Amino acid sequence: MDKILDLIIIGSGPAGLAAAIYAGRAELDTIIIEKSPISGGQIINTYEVDNYPGIPGISGFDLGTKFREHCDRLEMEFITGEVIKFEVKDGIKVVTLDDEKVYRSKAVIIATGSNPRKLNVVGEEKLSGMGVSYCATCDGAFFKNRTTAVVGGGDVAVEDAIFLARLCKKVYVIHRRDEFRAAKSLTTKLTAMENVEIIWDTKVEEIIGDTQVEQLRIKNLKTKEEKILDVDGTFIAIGYNPSSEVYKDVVEVDLGGFIVAGENCETNIPGVFAAGDIRTKDLRQIITAASDGANAITAVERYLNSL
Ligand code: NAP
Repeated sequence: MDKILDLIIIGSGPAGLAAAIYAGRAELDTIIIEKSPISGGQIINTYEVDNYPGIPGISGFDLGTKFREHCDRLEMEFITGEVIKFEVKDGIKVVTLDDEKVYRSKAVIIATGSNPRKLNVVGEEKLSGMGVSYCATCDGAFFKNRTTAVVGGGDVAVEDAIFLARLCKKVYVIHRRDEFRAAKSLTTKLTAMENVEIIWDTKVEEIIGDTQVEQLRIKNLKTKEEKILDVDGTFIAIGYNPSSEVYKDVVEVDLGGFIVAGENCETNIPGVFAAGDIRTKDLRQIITAASDGANAITAVERYLNSL
């Protein structure tokens, strides 16, 4: 029988790396499995992170590298590979990689993250990070006193629009239907803001700009009328796709596919924990992901002590 580790951490974004740091300090026999050898997760594509305490203006790539270097100082063991199968057999967690290697452990932290949904329109990919953003709380400050648009009608879109309206000269909210999905408490606040204009029944057809977002081509879905909107930034908030495919038949997930877990990161399966963007939570940020990493290790230690 292969060695049984204390802990396998799956994912090397902020949640996985923070968990790895805490696991190293707790001297847990741990491996971290990451899909790519460049640690950091989603943040490596973030041009600038300006809301992580103590290091304003750092690039996402540099922050990810710092997290990874911290793990390396603790001599944590990283393995590159994609998890293709996850099972729990007699309480032992069994993780199979795409190269068919199999790892076993008493506890697992799933920290595989989620990705913001894309609109899949012309210009979106080209201008991503150049006025197209998927995180208003991360990038909103770059658009102070300027004109922005938020696309979407859920809680995140409306919260983003409220946040941006306090900073920006003007905020358009573009929603494909004629009513919000977001909570009434939020929409009431939004509609009372004077610099917000809601554009109903409309979808974005194209994001226009050379090196920066300059305009949106929008289309009213009822009248089919097209219009050009001058904007400096576009915040896309149309939901997230969690990376939970491999785990969703083992642990409980919500309707959106996020692993159901509270602040202690415990799932419905003993010894299986979910940390960071993959778990059900309100605010998906680097700081909340890192916080999950710490909380998850505390819960893992409690679990290991109970065995
Ligand atoms: P969401 O609730 O799934 O809303 C996504 C929004 O984007 C919907 O309005 C949807 O339109 C729209 N949309 C989806 N695909 C689109 C497309 N291709 N083109 C245009 N529009 C599109 O997602 P979310 O706002 O990111 O929230 C995620 C979860 O976190 C939700 O369960 C939310 O309640 C929760 N959350 C809670 C809080 C809070 O309680 N304070 C804060 C933030 C988030 P339709 O409405 O037409 O479907």
